[in-house]
Amino acid sequence: IGKPLGRGKFGNVYMAREKASGVVVALKVIFKKQIEKHNVLSQLKDEIEIQTRLRHPGVLRMYGYFHDEKRVYLVLELAPGGELFKRLQSEKRFGEAQTGKWVTQLASALQCVHANKVIHRDIKPENLLLDGNSELKIADFGWSTVAKDKRQTFCGTLDYLAPEMLTHGVYDFRVDVWALGILMYECLVGSPPFEVPDSVEETHKAIQEGPITYPPELSMGISSSAKDLIKKLLAKKPEDRPSLEEVLAHPFLAPHVSEA
Ligand code: ATP
Ligand code: MG
Repeated sequence: IGKPLGRGKFGNVYMAREKASGVVVALKVIFKKQIEKHNVLSQLKDEIEIQTRLRHPGVLRMYGYFHDEKRVYLVLELAPGGELFKRLQSEKRFGEAQTGKWVTQLASALQCVHANKVIHRDIKPENLLLDGNSELKIADFGWSTVAKDKRQTFCGTLDYLAPEMLTHGVYDFRVDVWALGILMYECLVGSPPFEVPDSVEETHKAIQEGPITYPPELSMGISSSAKDLIKKLLAKKPEDRPSLEEVLAHPFLAPHVSEA
């Protein structure tokens, strides 16, 4: 077991190498006490079941798991590029080519996720990892309900919640399409579109009713094609949002679709 890669809610993630094969992986270590305390055994089982089953270049692979008396260990594909969140923090925002590439990779990975009857529900830059070539990988499955609680209780990061999750709590796979829109906006602008600092209530309101606006100093530099796709992804009513197939056919993504 090598250097720590990150801190999770219930344990830490380390770089690790399997002795026999020499293969380098990420090892997510979760304390059983924490699983009990927070009553998340079923979420953990979901996470393992889903992530070992899904096979797509845009979905972080889970190779398997094992456990001892105190801990559960998840063996994950290593993502040496780290979190998209950290990349965004250091670069502030990304250009249209880079954004288009990631949005394409994410849309294509979500097609696979949805085809397997899974809704991720927690797409955000902290849960998107990058490999050594900066290709995007969806991570963190099966923790959606936990993550939601956590956000509301501790962090107040509501920025990626879809309007229908706030109003009636009845939602489907189209919440991931909404989150794709928030992500695309955040990549191009550097902050999410409906964020009202220090006010949960105002943020809720902006998500449900607020228009999509761009900072004046950036607006000119963002193409009408990019804005058009964002507007479609961020339709307030889920039924007005495009399917992922339609998303991938949008002109903004056309230059990237064949590579994804
Ligand atoms: P949380 O609920 O707080 O998001 P978690 O317990 O679900 O945490 P993860 O998000 O899976 O844990 O992992 C925590 C952090 O560890 C990630 O945000 C990332 O920085 C790092 N990490 C996780 N998996 C990998 C990986 N496969 N390769 C590289 N870094 C990783
Ligand atoms: Mg996480």
